Amino acid sequence: MSASAQVSLFNTLSRRVEPLQPLAPPRVTLYTCGPTVWNYAHIGNFRTFLFEDLLRRWLEASGYDVFQIMNLTDVDDRTIRAARHAEKKLTEHTAPFTQAFFEDRDYLRIKPAHVYPAATQYMPQMIALVSRLLERGVAYKGEDGSVYFAIAKFPTYGRLSQLDKREIKVGARVASDEYAKGDPSDFALWKKADADDEAVGAAWDAPFGRGRPGWHLECSAMSLEEIGRCCGVQTLDIHAGGIDLIFPHHENEIAQSEGATGQPFARHWVHGEFLNVRGTKMSKRHGNFLTARDLREQGVDAAAVRLLFFQTHYRQPVDFNDEALSAAAEGVKRLGEFRERLLRETRNQTRDEPLKKIAALVEADVQAALNDDLNAPRAVAALFDFVRVANRELDQHAGGARAALEMFDRFMEVLDVLPTARSTDPALARWVGERIAARAQARKSKDFKAADAIRAELAAKGVEIEDTPQGTKWRLA
Ligand SMILES: [Zn+2]
Repeated sequence: MSASAQVSLFNTLSRRVEPLQPLAPPRVTLYTCGPTVWNYAHIGNFRTFLFEDLLRRWLEASGYDVFQIMNLTDVDDRTIRAARHAEKKLTEHTAPFTQAFFEDRDYLRIKPAHVYPAATQYMPQMIALVSRLLERGVAYKGEDGSVYFAIAKFPTYGRLSQLDKREIKVGARVASDEYAKGDPSDFALWKKADADDEAVGAAWDAPFGRGRPGWHLECSAMSLEEIGRCCGVQTLDIHAGGIDLIFPHHENEIAQSEGATGQPFARHWVHGEFLNVRGTKMSKRHGNFLTARDLREQGVDAAAVRLLFFQTHYRQPVDFNDEALSAAAEGVKRLGEFRERLLRETRNQTRDEPLKKIAALVEADVQAALNDDLNAPRAVAALFDFVRVANRELDQHAGGARAALEMFDRFMEVLDVLPTARSTDPALARWVGERIAARAQARKSKDFKAADAIRAELAAKGVEIEDTPQGTKWRLA
């Protein structure tokens, strides 16, 4: 896709849609707050991760080289409470939920981040960050033995969440990870170890006392470590998360990071809206707590979940219910059937290619929509219009299916909303794999006759192949 067009995104810092301006293009460093692995991630968490997946894929399709970091919160108030309740050690309790998160991610076709730092593996960096903040005089040790960040010492505190500075009561302190915007307080960077922490194995020695990190500190320490390691910088290009993280989590991340480095922490802050789960029978097992595995166990195609979410702008709330989900499943089916039709019609070579012209216009529209603050609903609507118009053209035997297919596939690579392929016989899959390898070998040695013979051999068994930049793909006709 053309690199001339500019990706713009709403920046929570300025409350405006602004062009993305990475520090060192084409590289984009992207930090996405990850799951707290105290339990299975809720489908609402996955709405955030799916919007981030779309962002990542669109940036890559636009020519950016994205380095994505997603942390795993495997020590905080909630994980410790849950481990204590389960009478397990912290890591024993969190490991299966980390594994489950990766399975759910794969089910929902979310591209893996480049690194998944887990908080418990970054204690030296967290301890160093607290020491630095103490040295710089923006943190202090309270008489309770914990270390706090002094928000009064950080003049821009509250900028991201547009906090009314008059709310700040100097010296008021909060030890828990989560608290309301109405109570801006000095927050815990390092919490003195208590009996529960020791019982689950969540306590580490530090020069300022044995304890464990506050949740907010973890993201600052891990993001700074990872962007330093990969790119030698102290400023993220994009920091993303759900809107519920703006205060206090992201506000505190800014204070800790900038308090330590003196550099802007992130150039662009991007936040996704909530998901409302209503009227779905699938959430019964967990009350209103619907997980990705509930959907998978019910045989819901991940493509339908993706399409349902992308049909609403990421800054608008989505209602998740059975009707919306089955409508999305219908949409997915239509897209799949359309692609199969295009694939069949590519054999029709005609002089006139009206579909090619239409596809070029649609491509420009979809690109403009995604560049405009990731307007996926507009992009999806343009693609469904295209399906309708192109089907009508194809009924008239219009040419240009190949160009249409190429355009369509480029956006399917970004949205990834085509139906999950039917499972095939493993023996057939093995045979197809061998024949594709033999064909690749024949092509390499310029024996095109042999390569064509293999293609025909595959076609005789109902296997259609397609050469793409990622290699040869195949499907059953
Ligand atoms: Zn975070």
